[in-house]
Amino acid sequence: MNTFDHLRQELAAGKTSCEKIVRSYLGAIDKGKALNAFLSVFREKAQLQAAEIDKKIQTGTAAPLAGMVVSVKDVICVKDERVTCGSKILENFVSLYDATVIARLKAADAVIIGKCNMDEFAMGSSTENSAFGRVRLPQDESRIPGGSSGGSAVAVKAGMSTTSLGSDTGGSIRQPAALTGVVGLKPTYGRVSRYGLVAFASSLDCIGPFGLCVKDVARVLKVIAGHDVNDSTSALVPVPDYVVSLNKDVKRLRVGLPKEYYGDALNAEIREALDRKVDILRKNGATIQEVSLPSTDYCIATYYILATAEASSNLARYDGARYGYRATDTPDLSEMYVESRTRGFGSEVKRRIMLGTYVLSAGYYDAYYRKGQKVRRIIQDDFSNAFQKVDVLITPTSPTTAFKAGEKAEDPLQMYLSDIYTTSANLAGIPGISIPCGSDSHGLPIGMQVLGKQFDEATVLKVADFLESTA
Ligand code: GLN
Repeated sequence: MNTFDHLRQELAAGKTSCEKIVRSYLGAIDKGKALNAFLSVFREKAQLQAAEIDKKIQTGTAAPLAGMVVSVKDVICVKDERVTCGSKILENFVSLYDATVIARLKAADAVIIGKCNMDEFAMGSSTENSAFGRVRLPQDESRIPGGSSGGSAVAVKAGMSTTSLGSDTGGSIRQPAALTGVVGLKPTYGRVSRYGLVAFASSLDCIGPFGLCVKDVARVLKVIAGHDVNDSTSALVPVPDYVVSLNKDVKRLRVGLPKEYYGDALNAEIREALDRKVDILRKNGATIQEVSLPSTDYCIATYYILATAEASSNLARYDGARYGYRATDTPDLSEMYVESRTRGFGSEVKRRIMLGTYVLSAGYYDAYYRKGQKVRRIIQDDFSNAFQKVDVLITPTSPTTAFKAGEKAEDPLQMYLSDIYTTSANLAGIPGISIPCGSDSHGLPIGMQVLGKQFDEATVLKVADFLESTA
């Protein structure tokens, strides 16, 4: 499996070319077809792009990501390619433009190799909710790779691309990274432009990278981060050089362990794996203290009220008239709307639209949506208070390792509980990374989450990079 450092060395030594790198990833995609990680593969375009980059390498004019091959969750627009969002309703919808993140990656000479499978409209924690079939965990195909960016996590794990872009609304980058055994970063809300990201819950959605190592994720973040005139919620905050700050220095770092995250729901093997890493931090000069995030119990409920409310409004645009699937056998316009949505959306998406419509409806708005907004503020304040005392928080990413396909598919509440350690970062708008942290007795990867202050991805990445370097 190749990190970008490795690929760059081989390129510099003349042992490989960008074209060869792309061919080898295409080979892995073909070999791993059964994993169902990709919804479209840009075979010719990727090779053409690689040939051009090879020329630039020869003339010394290549940009920083030359040699990196990126796959993209199918919720992010790539010009002239389909963007299905894992849904039948957008099955044949083609993007008219590149998302800002894609334009920036292309300008940095990364090759875009294809689009990854996902839970429909990014709703799910197992990538079983795709209209195009479930994604399989490479280590054990009877299991799920987490979700909703399961295709992206698998693409990186199975060597089908160097890195991948996913989206994280309540954990959809960090949780599949944890279950699959790769690194996944959710940046601060507003750090990365959402222009060209199909909206699920606009106040929570973030684009972020997956990689085999922290450094690769840092490199991609550096390229995609920063203000964008096309997204008014993207922040005018300078973007530091995330790679330079990976100095392995954790002396005097103040680490907080939120006690609410280490309760009974947590599997014992995951707790032990985390304890080991925390010990290493202590031995290397970090100070460790227990902190409290008192509103933790309300995160899941708050998330599922606010996210569904926003989704019900964002998904109203799929009505059969303007986008995607249209039922053509209906007697009138109103039936056309009903049938297009009934046939086009899968059951989880419909459940969320109904929930969201309910919490926003007259008579219930104050009891649910407005209350949810108030609780969100309290959750944000919890984090602000904790970050007065500590620089980072360390928590598990997921309460369990990768579960069997079908195990939670019939019980939405069980599935929603997969997100108990991740939704808080979205509600608070803070950055969070999941890194591999050993494996359980079945050999399944365990993930560990590092959370940081708003716009302090540099510290989050530094701590993650240090931990990654310790066995
Ligand atoms: N699993 C969560 C959900 O189903 C998070 C999804 C996401 O982050 N896109 O909503």
